[in-house]
Amino acid sequence: MSATTLETVTQIHHWTDTLFSFRTTRNSAFRFQNGQFVMIGLEGEGRPLLRAYSVASPNYEEELEFLSIKVPDGPLTSRLQHIAPGDSILVGRKATGTLVADFLLPGRNLYLVGTGTGLAPFMSLIRDPDIYARFAHVVLVHGVRQIAELAYGDMIQNELPNHPLVGEQVAKQLTYYPTVTREPFRNRGRITDLITSGQLFEDCELPPLSSQEDRVMLCGSPAMLKDMVALLEPEGFIEGSSNNPGSFVIEKAFVER
Ligand SMILES: Cc1cc2nc3c(=O)[nH]c(=O)nc-3n(C[C@H](O)[C@H](O)[C@H](O)COP(=O)(O)OP(=O)(O)OC[C@H]3O[C@@H](n4cnc5c(N)ncnc54)[C@H](O)[C@@H]3O)c2cc1C
Repeated sequence: MSATTLETVTQIHHWTDTLFSFRTTRNSAFRFQNGQFVMIGLEGEGRPLLRAYSVASPNYEEELEFLSIKVPDGPLTSRLQHIAPGDSILVGRKATGTLVADFLLPGRNLYLVGTGTGLAPFMSLIRDPDIYARFAHVVLVHGVRQIAELAYGDMIQNELPNHPLVGEQVAKQLTYYPTVTREPFRNRGRITDLITSGQLFEDCELPPLSSQEDRVMLCGSPAMLKDMVALLEPEGFIEGSSNNPGSFVIEKAFVER
């Protein structure tokens, strides 16, 4: 049996000239946990060209959604950015990943910290009712360079509080905290600086990070992950895994090649 199924692109949205999202049909046998990633791609010369992608849609939806970078000379995304509804796309049969609630110990506040396309797994998780049952507050921090890169920002603020399944929890328990580094915006600066200065907690009206009470999921560039871990570990945060749930979990949003 092939490791992938052939799905059909149903919708595409271009956020900027470097960022787009798209929806595909979903094989009825494909199961995943919110926060996980899957290999997706296109037929290549002789063999499929596949890359890891976080599923941005929640696992109860009929279709799958992905948020993608456009790397000008990237083997996959130089082609993927031109897909149109009706085109075929390969989707792996097996999802995996560390950004799942079971890898975390119980806690009070859950911080979902993503930069760039690192938002994708959290778009799935903030629509998961289970997250709101486990944590009193969920804080989604999304760091980007330019305002236009705040993908899904309007949807999170204006549509999600009316979502039929999680709207009530979102309205009461979710704080969305977008921050921009290269343009004037209501929240400005790098996430690590906003944490170190305490600005993030002041703005969210929450106490400073505590490894006893808070849990953190991270998805971003290798540099951002390194900086965040250097900030969390001295505070007593311990990385969680399937065998040993901890106080934070990490996933690379991409690998430097
Ligand atoms: C666990 C995991 C989950 C991922 N989830 C996503 C996702 O949801 N959406 C997504 O767009 N990509 C995601 N990626 C990255 C993805 O696998 C590819 O790298 C990306 O699609 C580019 O593919 P490419 O073949 O065009 O270029 P590649 O040869 O794969 O990458 C070329 C270079 O582009 C840069 N780059 C690649 N991806 C990104 C990115 N997302 N943001 C910023 N710079 C990047 C890096 O410097 C990389 O060295 C994920 C990677 C991992 C490991």
